[in-house]
Amino acid sequence: MQKQDFRCSFCGAKQSEDNSLIASPDGASFICATCIGICNEIVRNTIKVKHEDKVKVMAPMEIKKHLDDFIVGQDDAKKAISVAVYNHYKRINYNIENNIKANKKNAKVEIEKSNVLLIGPTGSGKTLIARSLAKILNVPFAQCDATTLTEAGYIGDDVETILQKLLQNADFNVKKAEMGIIYIDEIDKLSKKTDRKSNLKDPSGEGVQQALLKILEGCTCNVPQSSGKRNGYTETVTMDTSNILFICGGAFVGLDKIIEDRTTNKFLGFVENKDTKNSEVIKRIQPEDLMKFGMIPEFIGRIPVTVGLDELDENALVNILTKPKNAIIKQYKEIFNIDGINLEFSEEALKSVAKKAIELKAGARGLRTILEDNMLDVMFLAPSNKKIKAITMELNKATNKIVPKIEELEEINKKATV
Ligand code: ADP
Repeated sequence: MQKQDFRCSFCGAKQSEDNSLIASPDGASFICATCIGICNEIVRNTIKVKHEDKVKVMAPMEIKKHLDDFIVGQDDAKKAISVAVYNHYKRINYNIENNIKANKKNAKVEIEKSNVLLIGPTGSGKTLIARSLAKILNVPFAQCDATTLTEAGYIGDDVETILQKLLQNADFNVKKAEMGIIYIDEIDKLSKKTDRKSNLKDPSGEGVQQALLKILEGCTCNVPQSSGKRNGYTETVTMDTSNILFICGGAFVGLDKIIEDRTTNKFLGFVENKDTKNSEVIKRIQPEDLMKFGMIPEFIGRIPVTVGLDELDENALVNILTKPKNAIIKQYKEIFNIDGINLEFSEEALKSVAKKAIELKAGARGLRTILEDNMLDVMFLAPSNKKIKAITMELNKATNKIVPKIEELEEINKKATV
């Protein structure tokens, strides 16, 4: 049978091994790869940037005020990140407007992006800050754990899977996803293993740092859509990461010591006060400290803003239990309220929960576990006793446990009539 001679309907180029053609649905016309590239360029250059493409930028003070609703303490970190986020979105809007100007043949200066590195102990609010920012700014958000990532070709997730998550969370609206926030947790676990004796590759550590470079800086990636395979192919969309804000977080255990050693060496005789806050130590960070920790210089260069978070003290933990909009205690109260029971916690009980969380060294992360443990019995019993109208959780000093003081309806009535 004679092979049919298909040609590009735009430029007339013949189909060949180097030049594959894509057919229209009716099979009557074709387009070659070169013409697709040219069309792409034309569309990119002529597309008018709509007003709604811009993110509404709030002033740093306004961002911080909103963050205060969700995050207790960490004032220095909230201030620094508010400024970084303000600059990030101002930069996007500036570049969008500049593109319009560029189309009008005006000169253009591109402001480079500045991703953020959050350094603080577990449970100090790193993830919460990133998540709350996305909520405040109304942009899509995706979170991933750096330890699940591996260099392409190895077992594990490729770095592109983060973009896929963001796209999913943006309801597959590519434009929206391209302005989102990605939080990569446990970034410190990607540090180079310096004690490595052999010259083996490090596909889950340094290899991932290398793989992340491109998307952190800004590149176009083909991202698989989750709709799965169609006709045996996974459908992909092109995503540009230049306007995505990457926030990386990690505990960086031992980094404070590296910084302190460097500063102590520089100023002989200067001894760091042991009570110095993490956020204060991190303010003195230099790229060489992160390199010493095991991060590669190219990676450090792509995350220029470093913010330190402090370990949460007893007071902050009590506030976390009670103050934020969605505070754990407020949630428990609501759960009991549904059953018509008024739940209260004594100040001592709250403080003892905070103390136990500090002992666990899990920051605010431990609060819920401790409370769940202490509340289990009362949550099991109360719903079956319709007479219970009020419960106060108090500290039993002898056992150091939180125990419920239960008031039944008759007692409350009795009190009211006395
Ligand atoms: P990290 O990412 O630093 O390990 P997270 O942000 O995941 O910690 O915090 C775990 C949980 O602890 C959050 O869901 C939040 O409920 C609470 N939490 C932690 N830090 C704070 C804080 N500063 N203010 C309010 N809640 C906090």
